[in-house]
Amino acid sequence: MSIETISLSGRKKVVSNKDMTFLERLYLVAIVKGLLITIKHFFRKKATIHYPEQERERSAVYRGQHMLKRDEQGRENCTACGLCALSCPAEAITMKAAERKADEKHLYREEKYAEIYEINMLRCIFCGLCEEACPKDAIYLTESKVLVPASYEREDFIFGKDKLVMPLEMALKNSQLNNAN
Ligand code: SF4
Ligand code: SF4
Repeated sequence: MSIETISLSGRKKVVSNKDMTFLERLYLVAIVKGLLITIKHFFRKKATIHYPEQERERSAVYRGQHMLKRDEQGRENCTACGLCALSCPAEAITMKAAERKADEKHLYREEKYAEIYEINMLRCIFCGLCEEACPKDAIYLTESKVLVPASYEREDFIFGKDKLVMPLEMALKNSQLNNAN
């Protein structure tokens, strides 16, 4: 078999350069054929949904929006080591590290912390590699089925610490539950 005739998809069509007949030059048949294809698609099951009004059913093991964890004392776990950003295949994570001050020990667990931590949700593919790379158990994809809300503005998809850090009440509640068990 020559290279020209090989078709990996099996859908290859050889286009002919023969002169068109009078009927073909009217394009009526082609237009009717095109319309029939359009009409056929009216009656097919739609591949799309009206998000965000409608949502697809998600798997039981689905993991949604990220959260930056706090420890049982409510301090942020993240030490701004940058391993999550390095492991991210979509280059969605950026951060700026800062040194913890003496009076900030109740806020940050380690001597270094993320002053700025941002995830670009337009880039993120929710692969979870950031979670796997984190040595401080700081970032994880939540089980809460929370999706990134739809928006027309690009800036709304840059999630900073205000949206990512675990609420303090949640950290303290988790700590109480752990102590009770
Ligand atoms: S889930 Fe994947 S793509 Fe999204 S920020 Fe983490 S590593 Fe990057
Ligand atoms: S989330 Fe984890 S991996 Fe990412 S910078 Fe913070 S400590 Fe490092």
